[in-house]
Amino acid sequence: MTIRFDNQVAIVTGAGNGLGKCHALELARLGAKVVVNDFGGARDGSGGSSEAAEQVVAEIQAAGGEAIANGADVSSPEQVDAMVKQALDTWGRIDVLINNAGILRDKSFVKMTQDDWDKVVAVHLTGSEICTRAVWPIMREQGYGRIVMTTSTSGLYGNFGQANYGAAKMAVAGLMNTLCIEGEKYDIKVNCIAPTAATRMTEDLMPPEVLAMLEPKEITPAVLFLCSNKAPTHRIVLAGAGCYAMVRLMESEGV
Ligand code: ADP
Repeated sequence: MTIRFDNQVAIVTGAGNGLGKCHALELARLGAKVVVNDFGGARDGSGGSSEAAEQVVAEIQAAGGEAIANGADVSSPEQVDAMVKQALDTWGRIDVLINNAGILRDKSFVKMTQDDWDKVVAVHLTGSEICTRAVWPIMREQGYGRIVMTTSTSGLYGNFGQANYGAAKMAVAGLMNTLCIEGEKYDIKVNCIAPTAATRMTEDLMPPEVLAMLEPKEITPAVLFLCSNKAPTHRIVLAGAGCYAMVRLMESEGV
């Protein structure tokens, strides 16, 4: 792809592992300065350290790119504000936000505790809102911004054991719909991606032969297209197979 991000600044949340890491590495390779955010906790949202983010930053720097690590918990407005300040103090603008941080607390609804619900909603939905709220005035002022929300086919169709996750992911798409309308005047484009990729989040849930077919690096080019100045107008929800097809078509047409 010919998309470039020179002189642009990107924040990728949950970029210490899996898909987010893949997005951050690729953004940096294509010229962006990247804030690699990850609170570095366990998959259920407990614990936390910025070590994973620091490793990704080291990888980016070793390849000649520019990045800084950040350990903010996306569900904390204070920590997210500090992250945005760190980006502005370092590079002076924010062009791209990828809301990718996520946790899982899968249980059938009868076993799901209020805490399982609250934590998953806090990271996926409120975390996306908090990060977006923090960059929104900056993007408006710049007259340019690209935001990608990570939704899920679980939200679109339902999935056993994912009442919390599916509801939060569906709501993220709802958030996108309004932000598209409100951002239009300022050239802020907001899109959603429903990845269907093999990541740390799904590695225990699928057999190896299925995992092998679902590579995070197959999703990243579709996400980067949505982050670029070529991004479509708004309200795109791209699911796994659609991502692969779009990227193949873009390659064949030299986008
Ligand atoms: P995926 O690749 O599907 O995004 P991962 O579990 O590999 O799944 O990545 C999600 C990332 O989000 C993890 O690295 C995790 O540490 C991070 N994360 C989870 N909760 C938060 C949070 N509250 N704030 C910042 N990062 C988070």
